[in-house]
Amino acid sequence: MSDPFFHPVSGFDLPRYAGVPTFMRLPHVELDDTRLEEVDIGIIGVPWDSGTTNRPGPRHGPRQLRDMSTMIRAQNGATGVRPFETLNCADLGDVPPNPVDILDSMDRITAFYDRVIAAGIRPLTAGGDHLSSLPILRSLGKQSPLGMIHFDSHTDLFNSYFGGAKYTHGTPFRRAIEEGLLDPKRVIQIGIRGTAYDSEDIDFATSVGIRIICIEEFFDRGVKDVMAEARDIVGTAPTYVSYDIDFVDPTFAPGTGTPEVGGPNSFEALQVARFLAGVDIVGADLVEVSPPFDPSGSTAFLGISILFEMLCCMVTTGGLNR
Ligand code: MN
Ligand code: MN
Repeated sequence: MSDPFFHPVSGFDLPRYAGVPTFMRLPHVELDDTRLEEVDIGIIGVPWDSGTTNRPGPRHGPRQLRDMSTMIRAQNGATGVRPFETLNCADLGDVPPNPVDILDSMDRITAFYDRVIAAGIRPLTAGGDHLSSLPILRSLGKQSPLGMIHFDSHTDLFNSYFGGAKYTHGTPFRRAIEEGLLDPKRVIQIGIRGTAYDSEDIDFATSVGIRIICIEEFFDRGVKDVMAEARDIVGTAPTYVSYDIDFVDPTFAPGTGTPEVGGPNSFEALQVARFLAGVDIVGADLVEVSPPFDPSGSTAFLGISILFEMLCCMVTTGGLNR
C-alpha cells in the first residue's frame, strides 16, 4: 500500500481546475527531496523538441499534459486498478534541457534519469519529441540491452538526416541499437504506416531482427492478437515502452508534428496500452504531443490517458530495481 502523502488531490476535495497542476495531481518531489527514496514510480516531463525535423512544439508537451492530467481520477474504469494506492507515485518535475544544444540536452536527460534509477524509481516520461527516448535508454539500458514495445506510425530507425545529422526524432532507435541499449530481437514496432522516401529503415529493421507490425496487419488481426505477440516477443525480461502519439489517427490526435492518416482510434489507443499488463516495464514514455497543433487539448488529454493506462500496468509488475 502506498503512503497517503503520495495520494493525488481528489476532485471531491478541490475542483479539478483549481490548484497548481502536477501530473495526475500527485505531489511534486524534487530530485534532492528527502522523500525521493520513497517514490516507486516517477512521472517526469522532458520539455524538449530539438530533434524535431518537421513541425515543432512538443517542448510545450509536459505543461499541457500536466494541465489535462487533472482530468485523471484514482481508478481505472476498465480494469479497476487504483495505481496511486498500490505504489508511491510522484511528479518528479521537468528535466532542464538546453534548447540550443542537442548533445548537452541528451547528457542532461541521461544524468537526470541516472539519479532516478539510483533512487530505485521507475520512470514514466511525458515528452518531448521522440529523440528524448535515446538519452533515457542510455540510462535504463546501461546494464544490459532492453526489449521494447514501440507504438508509432514511424519506425524512427533512420540513419541520418540533412546529410549527416545523427540525432533527430527519426533516428533514436537506430542509435539505441548501435549503442547496445536495445536487443533488436526483443523489439516490436506497431502501427507503422504512411508515405516514405525509401525503405532504408525497414531494411535495417529486417537486417537486425526487429519485428514490425504495419497498420494493415494491425487492423487485420486486431488489438488482442497483436498485443499477445508483442508480449511474447519481449517475454519476461526488462522492457521499455515507447509511445508516439502519432500512432493514433490524427482525427483523434491532431496535435502532433508528423501526423499519418489511417490509424487507430482513441479507444484502440488506450486498449493497446492496457494489454501491456504482465510485461516487466522498467520505464515508459509518451512523446510527440505538440500543444501548438492541439487547440482543443484533446491530443494532450488522450496522451495523459495513455500514460495512466501504462502506469496501471507498471504497478502490477516488478521492474528493474525490484
Ligand atoms: Mn511518429
Ligand atoms: Mn516517433
